[in-house]
Parts: sequence; C-alpha cells; structure tokens
Amino acid sequence: MKDPEQGKHPMRNLAFVAAALLVLMLGAGALAASETKVLFLSKSSGFEHSAIKRVDGQPAHVERVLTALAEDQGFELTTTKDAGLINAEDLARFDVVMFYTTGDLRMPGSGEGLFGGDGEGAMPAGGVGELVAWIEGGGGFIGIHCATDTFRGEEGDVTPYIAMIGGEFRIHGRQFEGTLEVVDTAHPTARSLPERWLKLDEWYLFKNFDESVHVVARMNPGTEGKRQEMYDIEPYPVIWTKNLGDGRIYYNAMGHREDVWDDEIFQSAVADAIRWAAGER
Ligand SMILES: [Zn+2]
Repeated sequence: MKDPEQGKHPMRNLAFVAAALLVLMLGAGALAASETKVLFLSKSSGFEHSAIKRVDGQPAHVERVLTALAEDQGFELTTTKDAGLINAEDLARFDVVMFYTTGDLRMPGSGEGLFGGDGEGAMPAGGVGELVAWIEGGGGFIGIHCATDTFRGEEGDVTPYIAMIGGEFRIHGRQFEGTLEVVDTAHPTARSLPERWLKLDEWYLFKNFDESVHVVARMNPGTEGKRQEMYDIEPYPVIWTKNLGDGRIYYNAMGHREDVWDDEIFQSAVADAIRWAAGER
C-alpha cells in the first residue's frame, strides 16, 4: 500500500531546506549589516601631512595602515580626500567618520605650496552643520592629530566645528619623546594603551579647550619636552571623548609621524576608538 503521506515528505523537506537557507541568508545579511562602516577623510585645505599624501596615485601611508587594520578588524573602510562627501545623504551611509584634515575644508586649496591645500573636493557650505546633526543623530566622529587644525577660528572665535571636537590646535614645537599618561584606564578607548607610553611625535598644544570633555589620556612633556619653553607646562589632555546628542566624539592628538601609525599599540587604539565611536561597548 502506498503511504498517503508519501509524496508530501519531499515537499516538507524542501520547505525545511528553504527555511534553513533563508535563516542562513538572513544570518549572513545581518552579519554584513553589522560590519562597522568607516569613512576616512584626509583632505588638506591647509598644510598637507606626508602621512596622508598620495604619491603617483598610490594610497597614502595612513590609508594603507587603515586598510590593513579594517581587514583585520572587520571594518568596512572607505578612504577619501573629497570633503564633498560630508553631507547628510552620504554621511547616512556610515557609522563612523574619521578626520585627518587641515584648514577650512570649504576651500579646495590650490594644491601648491606648503599650506596651499591639496586641491581636492571641498566641503559643501552646510557641511559642518550636517556633520554635527549626523553626530547628534547617533553618528561616531573620530578626529586624529590635525583634525583640531581644521576650521580654526579668528582670535576669540570658537567655530561650530571646534566646539564639536572640543579643542583647537594652537601651536607645536620640535618633535620629542613625550609620555602619554592614561587618565581613565577603564575607558573602552584606552583598552590597548599602556598606562605610560613614551612616544616620539609632534605634540600639539591647544586653545579653546572644552573643559567638559572626558579626558582619556594626557601628555607629560617630561624633562626632554620641557627643554622647549612652550612645553614647560603641566601634563595636558591629548586624548578625549565626548557625547553629543545620541552620538560620540573621540579625539587623539597623536599621529603626525608615519612610525606612530606603524605602531601596533596606536593601531589597536584606533580600532578601539572606532568600535567605541560606533556605539559598541
Ligand atoms: Zn602634524
């Protein structure tokens, strides 16, 4: 006798396989969607650092380091010198935006001279406002080194961008080995940093510092730094975070030198910052 159920089983099995496939596909989709999308902008409207300079159309040093880091850490990285991407519609495609920039990004720059800028795409007039709104809506902003040498104001004027990032580059002296001292060892962005880290770099000094930021680390000039009068000061903040609306902001003053970017400790700190800025704990 024929089993009345026979013939139904293949269909049932098929349905089961289809359902399993669907779960797998959804799972893969969810995994892809969870990959943190990072935009790295290295437009120079003022001084162009060698670390982000593209020569003969090749990716710059920092772009190569970040590309390898993204591959290793599972970030989806886009690198650009086109500040035109800083608008509401394009920002919506990213979880984290990183700036290694100089000058007034609304100016393309001539591409000539030490402070002439790179001539790459300019930021739209409303770019800063749209960036701030994107952060307030839950975006993660990371500023590295010269990100505070961007949208500087006239004397006595704090521009909206500087108010957002929490400090403004004032001056730097000769490079020296300063000691990074972690103030908040429990902070997620300090996870990979030694409590004290002696590092040769170009150390920025700041003005218009926002006292309400959360200081993660400061720089102790030590005796070597103090040999330059401008660094004959107490340890001061060089890594800080702040919240803005539903978003997060991280700044790290280090990273002028290529060999700082080559350092695995610095790379891990950048990866930690990306995860924190993306809202992971
Ligand atoms: Zn520099």
